Amino acid sequence: MKGFFDTRIEFLKGVGPQKSALLNKELEIFNYGDLIQFYPFRYEDRTRFYTVSELSEELPGVQIVGTISKVETIGGGSKRRLVAQLKDDTGIVELVWFKGLKWVMKKIQPGVTYTVFGKPSRYGRKLNIAHPELEVFTRGHQEPGFLQPVYHTTENLKRRFLDSRAISKLQKQLLSIAYSQITESLPGSLIEELGLLGKADALKNIHFPEDSKKLSQAQLRLKFEELFYIQLRLLKLKLTRVKKFRGKVFGETSLINEFYHQHLPFALTDAQKKVIREIYGDMKSGEQMNRLLQGDVGSGKTIVAFICILAVVGAGSQAALMAPTEILAEQHYRGLAPYASQMGIEIDILTGSTKKSVRKILHQRLQEGQLKILVGTHALLEDKVKFQSLGLAVIDEQHRFGVAQRAKLWSKNEDFYPHMLVMTATPIPRTLAMTLYGDLDVSVIDQLPPGRKPVETVHRYDQNRLKVFGFIKNQIKAGRQIYFVYPLIEESAKMDLKHLEDGYESIRRAFPEIPLSIVHGKMKSRDKDFEMQRFVKGETRIMVATTVIEVGVNVPNATVMVIENSERFGLAQLHQLRGRVGRGADQSYCILMTDVKISKEGRTRIQTMVRTNNGFEIADADLKLRGPGDLMGTQQSGVLDLMIADLGKDGKILQVARQKASDILKSDPDLSLPEHLNIRRQVALQKKSSLNWSRIS
Ligand code: ADP
Ligand code: MG
Repeated sequence: MKGFFDTRIEFLKGVGPQKSALLNKELEIFNYGDLIQFYPFRYEDRTRFYTVSELSEELPGVQIVGTISKVETIGGGSKRRLVAQLKDDTGIVELVWFKGLKWVMKKIQPGVTYTVFGKPSRYGRKLNIAHPELEVFTRGHQEPGFLQPVYHTTENLKRRFLDSRAISKLQKQLLSIAYSQITESLPGSLIEELGLLGKADALKNIHFPEDSKKLSQAQLRLKFEELFYIQLRLLKLKLTRVKKFRGKVFGETSLINEFYHQHLPFALTDAQKKVIREIYGDMKSGEQMNRLLQGDVGSGKTIVAFICILAVVGAGSQAALMAPTEILAEQHYRGLAPYASQMGIEIDILTGSTKKSVRKILHQRLQEGQLKILVGTHALLEDKVKFQSLGLAVIDEQHRFGVAQRAKLWSKNEDFYPHMLVMTATPIPRTLAMTLYGDLDVSVIDQLPPGRKPVETVHRYDQNRLKVFGFIKNQIKAGRQIYFVYPLIEESAKMDLKHLEDGYESIRRAFPEIPLSIVHGKMKSRDKDFEMQRFVKGETRIMVATTVIEVGVNVPNATVMVIENSERFGLAQLHQLRGRVGRGADQSYCILMTDVKISKEGRTRIQTMVRTNNGFEIADADLKLRGPGDLMGTQQSGVLDLMIADLGKDGKILQVARQKASDILKSDPDLSLPEHLNIRRQVALQKKSSLNWSRIS
């Protein structure tokens, strides 16, 4: 059924075929519904006027009234600019234009009083406003104060006169014909209970806020709705899966007792015991487990996975353990193989570099069921890899794997789905986990094994490098190993590589008698592995590297992590890197090197790292600083293309939305009650929508 909001955008008065093509292409606005849900991303406060003396660079766009006293062009070539002085009773501020000088020059006249709107910024010691909006000021003819919506546009759109103002005009036009067509999309009971604005009112106020109170009500209403339907969808998926897919039941086995009493080399932490209980609970429930195991670096996730694997192997089934790189797979294999062989369990490893002849035998042992535990990389996903009976699949370091790959593992069995345990050391704040992994249950290891000394983190300036080198000399004398990490990002890869190589040279000169390794992403993976292994074995004492070493590598003898240009790394990455040290008995150190001059945000990140070792605290800080779109591993998820909600800020709304969605599904799993008609209709509408749900299911 086609409704009013499916009307193609070109039919809106003022649009037409050309603009419509642009809106399609640049903003993915195809129909009325798309346009009305294209919300402003901020609002300019035109409710008050500022004086020149009140201006500061911290302010957003502001409105001032003043008289132009002087207009001149300064500089030549690409530096040519137009500078005008705007004067009021309290002082003078400069207005600057770099483009469209001719046009502006015609428009502004000395001696005339204007209303000016723009963002103050600092240029040298003076404040100025670049490319302000100007309107001749007419006393008495002022519009009453209002909040001006600002829409995202693109250069292309602006060139064709579709700037924020023009979009606002289109919204006005649309609302004038659409308002009466807007139907409520939440159940009346919810609206009443939570005191939400109605849908039509919310849409009107999001585009044309009556005042700031109405605006925040509109935002709340629309954010709630967005999050509510995401959660409803996720929870429904989970319900369906629970009903449809039975899980094989795995209970206690004697293998577990044997391991606890004869082989386990240390006592488990309470946190490890707790998550093992949660996982066992799932595996014997008869339902298929889908659990996310979060635990900070070094919290001991591997042994937890192994103990869970024993439950499966003890019952005659098989288990897979998949890691994102060969180094990590290798490390897991070497860690677990001794236990397995002591207990007479066959274990093997499969990666991209496993020889064909070896592979063939391995495939056979796997299919016949002799081989019980298979550790490996993506290679495990190949169709040729067939298990006789895969009972549990463990995926380490989730953020490197897509959900599609999870699904691929599910399908490795024909008669039942294997239990899934996804492990991650990237601490994901709860709000984000609820959305990204809304269909998974979450367990958290919130405790480190005893005796770990927290890594001591310090911030040092580049000019004090000699002192840092002195400290490192002593650590090496004491037998320890050192990491030096350099940033390397695609955009500046060439320069970064040069930094890395220069850095390597200066380290080599400072430590002429010490064997070094160097590893970076531009090397062949075989060479990388080779160098890495030399460091792991202690043949080299210093590792100079890019972030390729960030995930999971375990060298307990490494005690110093020096991070160069550390202000360029994100918090999640810094935390991962720091997690590479502090794995042994000795006190470890993380040294964050920077220039003296760094951005405010960079400084905040470094201060956060110096202040705390707690991964979750860091993740929260990260979410606040950067917003969820940039958090590690979520960039491509697509789930985070939210229209209005912000997972960094709207955690509380999300929690309520999830609770309400869960309550409703509990009372009415099929959403068949009359009072849930609005929900049914909305869910049906969303089925057609562009959100790519397959990515998160
Ligand atoms: P991660 O959670 O980062 O994957 P690992 O599983 O690699 O951590 O464990 C880090 C180190 O801690 C390993 O050397 C492991 O043997 C050790 N370990 C794990 N659990 C305990 C424990 N309960 N007591 C002491 N050491 C432990
Ligand atoms: Mg690990």
